[in-house]
Amino acid sequence: MGSKISVTAKDVRIGGGAEISVQSMLNTPAWDIEASVRQAKELEAAGCQIIRAAVPDMDAVKLIYALKENIGVPVVADIHFNYKLALESVAAGVDKIRINPGNIGDNDRIKAVAEACKSNGIPIRIGVNSGSLEKSILAKYGHPTAQALCDSALYHASLLEQFDFTDIVLSMKSSNVRTMVEAYRLADKQCDYPLHLGVTEAGTRRMGIIKSAVGIGALLVDGIGDTIRVSLTDKPVEEIYAAKDILKSLGIGDKGIRFVSCPTCGRTKIDLIKLANEAEKRLMGCNKDITVAIMGCVVNGPGEAREADIGIAGGDGEGLVFKKDKIIAKVPEDKLIDVLIEEVEKM
Ligand code: SF4
Repeated sequence: MGSKISVTAKDVRIGGGAEISVQSMLNTPAWDIEASVRQAKELEAAGCQIIRAAVPDMDAVKLIYALKENIGVPVVADIHFNYKLALESVAAGVDKIRINPGNIGDNDRIKAVAEACKSNGIPIRIGVNSGSLEKSILAKYGHPTAQALCDSALYHASLLEQFDFTDIVLSMKSSNVRTMVEAYRLADKQCDYPLHLGVTEAGTRRMGIIKSAVGIGALLVDGIGDTIRVSLTDKPVEEIYAAKDILKSLGIGDKGIRFVSCPTCGRTKIDLIKLANEAEKRLMGCNKDITVAIMGCVVNGPGEAREADIGIAGGDGEGLVFKKDKIIAKVPEDKLIDVLIEEVEKM
């Protein structure tokens, strides 16, 4: 599903039913080109499909050149207030700009950015945040409501539309999950632009992932959203792992193993928590499109394993390895994961 229209950043199509892309943002200082390129490469290797970098001043445009030279995925320049930074980033070969046209001054400046992006085929993301809404919109709604966020995004879009620029992606982020979900639902009804989903200032790893999964997940289930960014107070690569797992949990996009594991109970006679964590860790880089079940006992184990492609069911100091509904091995506890992995590798 997703938006009706699409834009393209380099070779990544966003919207119009394209695969939902995952993105992140560098958190290295813009002046530290070496560290920024290293982090961008790490993100790319982890499966990040779009990489954004802050361009706070003219000197930081050098980073855009360096990223374009060193990484293959599209690069987005994140710009606030200064339209010249947008023009320079376009000249540096950036693939997408994040800027709010209402914040860059008069119409001549907006026109200059719209024309530069249009002639280079570069889309613009308008990124509205609940913490930085226009005074007039805040005065109308009293506080950053979902409708206020949506109105603000559409207002910024209208400033580009007056120059026939419609290669637009919208985001309406809030740290309040309900507000964010409602804002994107409104935008989905009120426009055809692709939507970049995210909960802003979501928090540290645990709560940030929970809030992002709830907000982004609720929208994706309804077919809303075209690209996602999980914001964490953590290493950016963790955002990519979380984003990919959110998509995986909904059976969207990326290949990779889906794990099913039981919560353990009084029947469990093996160290299932350890085994499940070990299996997940050792199979992390595996891109096979399969479901692996790690079950504590033979009560639910075989049933779950039937639904899965492969699995283990614990016994007393040993366990069974299943492939679909067939038992293929009975192995001591300390060899269970080795055998499971050997069997996964054969699939
Ligand atoms: Fe308990 Fe077995 Fe269910 Fe795991 S699969 S929770 S061990 S009954």
